[in-house]
Amino acid sequence: MNVQALEEEISLDPVNWEAMRQLGHQMIEDMMSYLENVRERPAWQPIPPQVKDNFKQPLPTTPTDAETVYQEFLENILPYPLGNIHPRFWGWVLGTGTPIGMLAEMLASGMNCSLGGGEQVAVDVELQVIEWLKEMMGFPMDSSGLLVSGGSMANLIGLTVARNTLAGYDVRSRGMRDMVRPMTLYCSQETHSSIQKAAELLGLGSESVRKIAVNAYFEIDVAALEAAILEDKAQGFQPFCIVGCVGTTNTAAIDDLDLLADIAEREGMWFHIDGAFGALAVLSEHIRPGLKGMERADSLAFDLHKWMYVPYEVGCVLVQNEDKHRRTFSMTPDYLSRAERGLSSAKTWLSDYGVQLSREFRALKVWMSIKTHGVAAYGQLIQQNIEQARYLAALVDAEPELERLAPVTLNVVCFRYVREGLSDAELNQLNDELLMDLQESGVAAPTSTLLNGKFAIRAAVTNHRSRRDDFDMFIQKVLELGRKTPT
Ligand SMILES: *Cc1c(COP(=O)(O)O)cnc(C)c1O
Repeated sequence: MNVQALEEEISLDPVNWEAMRQLGHQMIEDMMSYLENVRERPAWQPIPPQVKDNFKQPLPTTPTDAETVYQEFLENILPYPLGNIHPRFWGWVLGTGTPIGMLAEMLASGMNCSLGGGEQVAVDVELQVIEWLKEMMGFPMDSSGLLVSGGSMANLIGLTVARNTLAGYDVRSRGMRDMVRPMTLYCSQETHSSIQKAAELLGLGSESVRKIAVNAYFEIDVAALEAAILEDKAQGFQPFCIVGCVGTTNTAAIDDLDLLADIAEREGMWFHIDGAFGALAVLSEHIRPGLKGMERADSLAFDLHKWMYVPYEVGCVLVQNEDKHRRTFSMTPDYLSRAERGLSSAKTWLSDYGVQLSREFRALKVWMSIKTHGVAAYGQLIQQNIEQARYLAALVDAEPELERLAPVTLNVVCFRYVREGLSDAELNQLNDELLMDLQESGVAAPTSTLLNGKFAIRAAVTNHRSRRDDFDMFIQKVLELGRKTPT
């Protein structure tokens, strides 16, 4: 065989390791200061158009030295984040991240593990983390779980196991074409959009998602749920799954989990819980009794990048029955075949429990975080956030110019600025303006929602950097802006 001599063999390793090492030290130095001094910067600032223009360049064909690329990062990327590491960011439900989490990400990336399968200790780290999370959530030790990108993927996995388990035929081979009675899923109107997205992806369609009304606390109306199930059965549908919420996105409402579990059990239905952020409140001993029934879920989805402050991305799905979980996803083509010894001797192949084959080593940042901080610190922080939300609610309640729009059950506060003589429509417009001004001021970054047609400024506190003073500052600014916002 004629082997042609290559001109020169190349690799992507640095030519000068010492220079790369120095650059790495500088990056750590800079990022530590960035985190340490986050409070001195605005919570958010608009991105100048010329900065955005930097990201419309042609595909680079020739190299640029890493120092120069890093300088570009410092100038054009680092100053313009969404702001969720800031102590006064309370938009949507976003986590804050931590310095140890950031470092762990670097270590995981350096190891560059792919956790689909194979004998490597990273898999044991993930299994260890799953054991800890099961214990935290009160799930039995023989249940299964997987770390995933976030709540959306965790919901998708839980609902896929539900569909495949309850279809009554082999969905994996027959797809949806053997479905005789359309399968229907039940959740409250307040349930997160990722549930509907999952139903669409699963071929059930959004019409199969029955969005049940809520009570004054934004919890699912159980009588309406039972009536809907009865009605659907009579109409020839197959009610197969109830989704309970632990912490709805709008107001952090918690459904009556024990009651939902009872209904699911009685009806032979699957009980899935979306506890994206709320499930973590189980770590607060004051909240834990209110989450009774969570341990009865057939599947439970929650995020670690929200209320456990681990850097993005990481969520978790737990499934009560390991066999049903594995049967839904396991697939062993020849090139993934298992062996007695060597690289393929791993007992657990995590690709058997989810969608991804190549998977990042997201377990490391969770493992390092839980070990470094200890689980008690999370309980304390979650309780702290809940108390901060109550403090914020009290500030709102004490101001005649402010009106609270929902009860505060956990960590979400919804309110608006009010001015006498204005209609709801006018108030909606005023508060919309006010919120944009507030965000652009950089003082605080809440977002909004609509509650019974009313525009609400909404603060979700999943932030380990917030202090009480921050909420004082927030309310002062809202009042100042509200007074000068024209109608
Ligand atoms: C954030 C959230 C989700 C989606 O989770 P991701 O991590 O963003 O994929 C689902 N449900 C609720 C209640 C959420 O707050």
